[in-house]
Amino acid sequence: MDNGKDRVPNRADVPSFFGEMVFGDEVMKTKLPRDIYRSLRQTIDEGSELDITVANVVAAAMKDWAVEKGATHYTHWFQPMNGITAEKHDSFLSPQENGGVIMEFSGKELIKGEPDASSFPSGGLRSTFEARGYTAWDPTSYAFIKDDSLCIPTVFCSYGGEVLDKKTPLLRSMEALNTHTLRILRLFGDHKTTRVSATVGAEQEYFLIDHALYERRKDLILTGRTLFGARPPKGQELEDHYFGAIRPRVMAFMKELNEELWKLGVYAKTEHNEAAPSQHELAPVFVTSNIATDQNQLTMEIMKKVADRHGLACLLHEKPFEGVNGSGKHNNWSLTTTDGVNLFKPGKTPHNNRLFLLLLCAVITAVDLHQDLLRIAVAGAGNDHRLGGNEAPPAIVSMFLGDELEAILDSIENGTHYDPHVASRMVTGVQTLPNFNKDTTDRNRTSPFAFTGNKFEFRMLGSSASIAEANIVLNTIMADVLADFADELEAANGSNEAIDALMKRVIHEHKRIIFNGNNYTHEWVEEAERRGLLNLRTTADAIPYYASEKNIRLFGRHNIFNGSEIQSRSEILEENYRKVINIEALTMLEMARREILPAVYAYEKTISENAVAMAAVGIPIVDRATMNTLNQLTILHNQLYDRAESLEETLRSAVAAKSTEDFRDKVLPAMAALREPADALEMIVGRSYWPFPTYDEMLFSV
Ligand code: ADP
Ligand code: MG
Repeated sequence: MDNGKDRVPNRADVPSFFGEMVFGDEVMKTKLPRDIYRSLRQTIDEGSELDITVANVVAAAMKDWAVEKGATHYTHWFQPMNGITAEKHDSFLSPQENGGVIMEFSGKELIKGEPDASSFPSGGLRSTFEARGYTAWDPTSYAFIKDDSLCIPTVFCSYGGEVLDKKTPLLRSMEALNTHTLRILRLFGDHKTTRVSATVGAEQEYFLIDHALYERRKDLILTGRTLFGARPPKGQELEDHYFGAIRPRVMAFMKELNEELWKLGVYAKTEHNEAAPSQHELAPVFVTSNIATDQNQLTMEIMKKVADRHGLACLLHEKPFEGVNGSGKHNNWSLTTTDGVNLFKPGKTPHNNRLFLLLLCAVITAVDLHQDLLRIAVAGAGNDHRLGGNEAPPAIVSMFLGDELEAILDSIENGTHYDPHVASRMVTGVQTLPNFNKDTTDRNRTSPFAFTGNKFEFRMLGSSASIAEANIVLNTIMADVLADFADELEAANGSNEAIDALMKRVIHEHKRIIFNGNNYTHEWVEEAERRGLLNLRTTADAIPYYASEKNIRLFGRHNIFNGSEIQSRSEILEENYRKVINIEALTMLEMARREILPAVYAYEKTISENAVAMAAVGIPIVDRATMNTLNQLTILHNQLYDRAESLEETLRSAVAAKSTEDFRDKVLPAMAALREPADALEMIVGRSYWPFPTYDEMLFSV
């Protein structure tokens, strides 16, 4: 069994400054009086209430530690519903009666903040109650120092207690998951384990391009993706980037990024090039899902900052370049006990591991029942460009289990004997190379939700999004199914017969969600439809499923969200979808009219003047190249002009109607139509005339 060893990074690799900017367990132990430490630890581990006297001592110790490290300010650090993190900095300085100042930080300031929150999205929640939002310290996430400020991870809610952030529901979902997993463990005779946590490792993909080029692209600056750009002569077809040698400039960036992250206690493990040129990936070592969420937010922020320092721009958008693979985030998810036992580790004989099989059945059930929520958790205008684009999983949720597990499930369902086939050997065919055992859960890179040996890898997440939603959903749907399982099995005193009967039934009911084949094919889309699986192609298609009766019941049962909170989240998602596309369309209009058209006119002028000059020295004006080029340019520039007019009109009416469907069905196609002549012009207009850097310049710039 997993003894938790592989959870801790190899000590020899970890430099002395690892975690030096984090008020973590080691620091707490040395800086806090014994009883205070113990009481805080209890709050962290078991969720017991925190006393103000304890908070006062912790605050003072935190402040001293932070000031020693050069911090002058503190901030409650929270994750509002817009997907980024928010901070409001206050100074430690406190004026004294004698005119002097001292550095002060109280337990009250640690525990509670009142940021002016009116500018954060609330989906109509806050206005119905009070304009004010409150932040409250989340002692389960460690405080850290960033930019000379002590950052205190907090949750964010309204005066009436309505949830206004992503962190509160995540913590609640972890509670629910813990409660019901423990019930199952008890049925298996485990009375020792006191807590089960969802652990998460979020692999992060990103692009790096030259900053000087980035600055010249209004679309990248304003929307994060290129809205124009012809395909470069060379793209990723040679597949020479993946695992290729990392360039020195990127190497220097990665080295500094690692150091910055290590200081913040984020252990970034592997970095390699991805399939697309200029694309890279970072994988952290997994931690509990709330800390993983904080760390991923920090990672994205630090990536951008460090890139700046190296004259690079870090692009986190899901699809910065059309025709080139986009970026995602792989949310590796598992269940781990406080003793470090990974509950998804099948062991050598998975067919005999009833607990593992029962938990596996729970995941299958949860994913099948809540395909809609998993899709919604990764929804957004940006990710729509990526899902189903033959580079990322389709918008259809399914699960990959591998041949061995599928055969085991078959035997359970049919009551037949499972014959553990000898692990098949990989024969290299070369005498001097050793043959090795094939991984029985060989990776299926096309699956949206793959079992990868001892964890599930949810691969639909977009690169720029917070991982909070995905984990709220994963934890909640798993908790819900385990609650049902526990109800049923407790009534039968956890007998093996009852467990087997339950497994047999749910495998039969939910096995349609299992698909081990290639998810990128058209055949799968048709097959999935026959199986009755959802295919919610766009965010606009997914939104109507959010506040359904099923979901209100689900989130309500586990106290994650109430009905109005779900409604508000659904509205925020919808509004955000329209806003993002609106900004993109406006940026396109601006670039088409004020950058591309003038460039085309300038080039046309040069050609015409050249023709006149040639005529003056006796060369006939009807020279083929000049005439044809001018003709082509004229046709295209008129098209560009007309399509800009029509996009503007379409956009105006979609905005007026606040119609999400119109944005999907009319505005997006009008944008694609405008892009066409622009990209065609790029192929004709002289390079020095083109107003912004092209794909080949950006993609092969570092
Ligand atoms: P891959 O071959 O897919 O890169 P890795 O072993 O490198 O697999 O792991 C990928 C990610 O999965 C890493 O971020 C890692 O920390 C995470 N991971 C590994 N084990 C677990 C686990 N038990 N729970 C959650 N995440 C995990
Ligand atoms: Mg991966």
